[in-house]
Amino acid sequence: MAHAVNPEADALLDKEFPVLDHGFVRLVDYLGGDDRIVQSARVSYGKGTKTVREDKGLIDYLMRHLHTSPFEQVILSFHLKMPIFVARQWVRHRTARMNEISGRYSVMRDEFYVPPAGAVHFQSKTNKQGRDEETPVPAEVVESVRETLAGENRETYASYEKMLEDGISRELARINLPLSLYTEFYWQMDLHNLFHFLNLRLDAHAQLEIRLYAEVIANIVKTVAPYAYESFERNIRYGRRFSSDEIEEIKRLAAGEEPQLTGRKLREFREKLGLPAD
Ligand SMILES: Cc1cc2nc3c(=O)[nH]c(=O)nc-3n(C[C@H](O)[C@H](O)[C@H](O)COP(=O)(O)OP(=O)(O)OC[C@H]3O[C@@H](n4cnc5c(N)ncnc54)[C@H](O)[C@@H]3O)c2cc1C
Repeated sequence: MAHAVNPEADALLDKEFPVLDHGFVRLVDYLGGDDRIVQSARVSYGKGTKTVREDKGLIDYLMRHLHTSPFEQVILSFHLKMPIFVARQWVRHRTARMNEISGRYSVMRDEFYVPPAGAVHFQSKTNKQGRDEETPVPAEVVESVRETLAGENRETYASYEKMLEDGISRELARINLPLSLYTEFYWQMDLHNLFHFLNLRLDAHAQLEIRLYAEVIANIVKTVAPYAYESFERNIRYGRRFSSDEIEEIKRLAAGEEPQLTGRKLREFREKLGLPAD
């Protein structure tokens, strides 16, 4: 079959989708889509499916049964611009291929992330890795936080420029630049691993800033491979995996017996079911 062309996905190519105050996601290229997943799966299953409904069903079957290799035949390449602290989380996803701007070679631009007022929250008391989005932060505290961050960015960048003016090497002058500085890179991943990335980074436990990037990537994937994306949402993103303890609890609940899970295990179980913590 000829090179797969998807006019909706083609329309996204080279568009910068803004994220945060200076960042973006840009789809540089894509290889394949739903059709490619089906074609490559047919190599293993024979010429079974032909209609759109059957193709959709086949993709859903592959997703449900973790027959993941046909999804690896679809590849997306992005140009991304994000603060370094987001990139630190991003690069933990090792199955990508990437190439990043070099602060040894280039002068880093005066671009830093300062969270908008609505993103400034106190430390969460229940989630050690997260923000307490319920308790309001007084407006003057929010402004003071934003001014502190912006002021320190200005000062650090001024020192950086001064060192460059004094002829200090770029690779040294940059070392005090903060994690809020923007970086850019090309990033390529196959669809199987991209779904794994999206599952982790669209989740409410992921940091807000990386989640905002993941949402843009998700919308692009939805266009490149709409059936696969729909199946990912149903089976992976909004599906849940239960431990054997939890399955026993479900059986007890279905039989009208007393629940036995307690504490953290109970909270996590209820969270999976979308129920309040207690
Ligand atoms: C909410 C959240 C909080 C986190 N907090 C922390 C934290 O506090 N500290 C921290 O260090 N990290 C943290 N992480 C990062 C996390 O531990 C993973 O490193 C990251 O999510 C990438 O996942 P991955 O390894 O599955 O993905 P990938 O690197 O993309 O790998 C995909 C899959 O390939 C396989 N694989 C890839 N490379 C190898 C390998 N070398 N050996 C064996 N199998 C491999 C694994 O099956 C893996 O699941 C956090 C992630 C999330 C989502």
